[in-house]
Amino acid sequence: MKIVPIPAFRDNYQYLVIDDKGTKQAAIVDPVDIDSIQENVLKEKVKLVAGFVTHHHNDHSNHAHKLVPTFGNEVTVYGNDEARIAGQTKNTTDGGVFKIGNLGVKTLHTPCHTTTHVCFFVDDLTTGEKAVFTGDTLFIGGSGRFFEGTAEQMDAALNTKLASLPDDTKVYCGHEYTVGNLKFAATVDGENPHVRAKLRWAEEQRANHQFTVPSSIGDEKKFNPFMRVREPALKKATGKEDPLEVMDVLRTRKNNF
Ligand SMILES: [Zn+2]
Repeated sequence: MKIVPIPAFRDNYQYLVIDDKGTKQAAIVDPVDIDSIQENVLKEKVKLVAGFVTHHHNDHSNHAHKLVPTFGNEVTVYGNDEARIAGQTKNTTDGGVFKIGNLGVKTLHTPCHTTTHVCFFVDDLTTGEKAVFTGDTLFIGGSGRFFEGTAEQMDAALNTKLASLPDDTKVYCGHEYTVGNLKFAATVDGENPHVRAKLRWAEEQRANHQFTVPSSIGDEKKFNPFMRVREPALKKATGKEDPLEVMDVLRTRKNNF
């Protein structure tokens, strides 16, 4: 599997996901800029067969409705919110499975940032490589805001659903927020050497105009405070025992950070 990050707007990522060892079929995650999508499809010499829309927010779904007119009727646009995603052609929700060439795709419903948010887990059936596209649910070193949900839902999304994916699953998130997230992490988990090391690395990457994606599920468990709400350090920093209360305090503090 080959994954090409295509930046858009100020700090969004679209991703071209390619079955590069097999059919050369490809999917675009969170299509918001049709020109850059077209450019990359041509450059990579692939056949675009699908769009994956993680959630309805404009900066993730803006050009979903342009995929079929641009790339033809064989393109399937997957999402979980027919009412709010213009251009969605096929609904997919928790446990929904389908294929893009030799790539197996599984939909994970992760409500909280929005009620209908989904993540897409992709398993290359040829090479065994795994990736998850997490939209605005899981960021590197952080989580999305709880616009339409609760700490309990975000905990289930991050610490049950996403945490149970194999540790070597690569994480591709919806925004380049890594440095800010890890600066916040350092205020609540400052003794954690993984936080400090990842922050230094991320700052270097950005200084060199490089992306900080991907991360991995195993690594996120080491430095992402929202995936560490059961750790003593985070309980101490927030003054809470209940992991859901820890999650809530972290989110409130991050919103004001
Ligand atoms: Zn969003």
